[in-house]
Amino acid sequence: MNNKLKKTAYISIIMIIVVLIACGKISFADTKSDLQAQQRSIDNQIAETNSEIAGVKSQMTTTLSQINRLNSQISSYEDEIGELETQMTVLNTQIDEKQNGIQEQEIKYQEQQELLNKRLIALYESGSTSYLDMLLSSDGLADFISKFYLISQLAEFDQDLLDDIERTRSQIQLEKEQLESTKSEVQNAKTTMEVKRNSLDVSVREKNALVNNLTEEEKALQEQLEEFEKDKKDIQARIAALAKKNNRTTATVAPSAAGYISPLSGRTKANITTGYYGYAGHTGVDFACSGGTPILAVKSGVVVTSMARKNSAGKYISYGEYIIIDHEDGTMTLYAHGSPGTRLVQEGQRVSQGQQIMSVGTTGNSTGYHLHFEVFVGGKRTNPTAYLP
Ligand SMILES: [Zn+2]
Repeated sequence: MNNKLKKTAYISIIMIIVVLIACGKISFADTKSDLQAQQRSIDNQIAETNSEIAGVKSQMTTTLSQINRLNSQISSYEDEIGELETQMTVLNTQIDEKQNGIQEQEIKYQEQQELLNKRLIALYESGSTSYLDMLLSSDGLADFISKFYLISQLAEFDQDLLDDIERTRSQIQLEKEQLESTKSEVQNAKTTMEVKRNSLDVSVREKNALVNNLTEEEKALQEQLEEFEKDKKDIQARIAALAKKNNRTTATVAPSAAGYISPLSGRTKANITTGYYGYAGHTGVDFACSGGTPILAVKSGVVVTSMARKNSAGKYISYGEYIIIDHEDGTMTLYAHGSPGTRLVQEGQRVSQGQQIMSVGTTGNSTGYHLHFEVFVGGKRTNPTAYLP
């Protein structure tokens, strides 16, 4: 019994150990697969987070481009509103002139009417109800001729007066009609302007909401881009004012006759690396080339701008080192992103065609060595391609 008990005890112990080992094994196996699953889940989470980050990044890039799109929308709304305001000022001046004109015509009309009344009274008082009576009452041939002459003069005068009155009356009618149509033009311009103002407000609000979502880094980038856009507008306004001041709002030469040479020796428009996309996009053409390449004046003229565009921290922004030349033929050219300190000409200086004005660099809003070249015609940015050899 003792042995049997011992045997049972051993068996029990072995069984317990076996069970424990078995359990341990099972338990170990569970932990391992758990860990593997956990590892997988962590991997998945990392992948998810990464894709989320990528998503956020692409979202932010989209946000930035949305902001830029809104900015150009805002800018074009502002331009359109400005144009409408100018149009309305012109129309309102026309209305004032028309109203003054109508008043003058009405005074004239009244005077003519009074004159006609006087004539009718005079004729009535003289008893000459008809010119024939006057002629018949004449005394002899000489008297007849003299009376005939007087009467024909009077008749002519009356006819002229009646014609004048009719002309004045139709003139007043015409001017009143023109006034009405000008007034309705103003009304249309006002309505259009209201619509533009509303669209502008919507775009500004939409943009502000997007800007609030940007990271600090993106905000800095955004500010830099906006500074560049503002510069583009400022330059446009400055050039337009200069063109107006110098009475060069229209080009006096055709592109083919402008006689530009290439701003870079040995290169033609076939070497343009980024084209012109208009006011809201790329406002000039780029020639990618190595740093230090001489930049040449495409035609003789006077330097109107020669500057280094830097922010308050002294960092190059926007056009960086840039030069604008007035060719005195209704066209001006701009050369940007020059190498630091390589500008060779000053404002007011006369330059000849082919003269080196600066060297190629990558200052300001630029990601590599290139010349950014713009053409202004009649004070407005124009696709330079037609002007380049
Ligand atoms: Zn460019």
